[in-house]
Amino acid sequence: MNNELIIGSHVNYNGKEQLLGCVKQAVEYGENAFMFYTGAPQNTVRLPINNKLIEEAYELMKKNNILLKNVIVHAPYIVNLANNKVPESYEFAINFLRQELDRCIKFGVKKIVLHPGSHVSLGVDVGLNNIINALNRILKEDDDIKICLETMTGKGSELGSLDEIFIIMNGVKLKDKIMICLDTCHMNDRGYDLKKFDETLDYIDKKIGIDKIGCIHVNDSYNERGVRKDRHDNIGFGKIGFDTLLDIIYNPRLKNIPKILETPYITETPISKERLYPPFKEEIMMIKSRVFNPNMITEIRDKNK
Ligand code: FE
Ligand code: FE
Ligand code: ZN
Repeated sequence: MNNELIIGSHVNYNGKEQLLGCVKQAVEYGENAFMFYTGAPQNTVRLPINNKLIEEAYELMKKNNILLKNVIVHAPYIVNLANNKVPESYEFAINFLRQELDRCIKFGVKKIVLHPGSHVSLGVDVGLNNIINALNRILKEDDDIKICLETMTGKGSELGSLDEIFIIMNGVKLKDKIMICLDTCHMNDRGYDLKKFDETLDYIDKKIGIDKIGCIHVNDSYNERGVRKDRHDNIGFGKIGFDTLLDIIYNPRLKNIPKILETPYITETPISKERLYPPFKEEIMMIKSRVFNPNMITEIRDKNK
């Protein structure tokens, strides 16, 4: 069982079932890992955590071979540690992320993924410095959790190229608390050639050590390499392609790292806007069988009719 692929997806967290609800979705999709927001990603409203639901979640995880070390939280994307133009907002972001770490610790979660932040108009250096200072205030020596800085596309003033992440990692005092999260869509859009992923891994290894990779977001991209756009696509349906993604997923150097899908939900019809049906069960089936199914999207639509 040690050889098993560690794969899951983003799942929804609701106030009623909390972690238990997340586990139920993961089980339904055939996953042994998953990622969730502890509330709405676009706001910072967070409800109290129910300990009984955590216990029930743990039981269901045990039954389904989901290990706590493969459960990941994503910090809300409105938290911006790079911008201190409005001191109150910067302080709020720092306090909120600290509370988020405490929530993760309550859940027993060991990794939280964080978008480094956008410098807005402060410039790259100031932005990176703000992130470093914030992380140095947030992290505590005895925290049993790692912050995984996610590679970003660089749209707008977004920080999060590999080199920018290395600068942050070097500036943080508690270095053992910081890891990196590689997002395949974001890396493609930023300009990294995913067909040469081993070269990128060599580079990461040389700079910070490959053991610092804590999570991999596996997404196809709607866009060509280098456009800095950030629009996720379903596995095998975008510009990265099935084979390249499969090579990354099954790369032996990344074996023990959780792979998390954040691919878009499927719309009811090709022209409808509202995204209704999660694709994860079908995508994971394709990944496990290593066979691309070009009819996947139509089949999901039919199944939900
Ligand atoms: Fe993210
Ligand atoms: Fe991501
Ligand atoms: Zn994205």
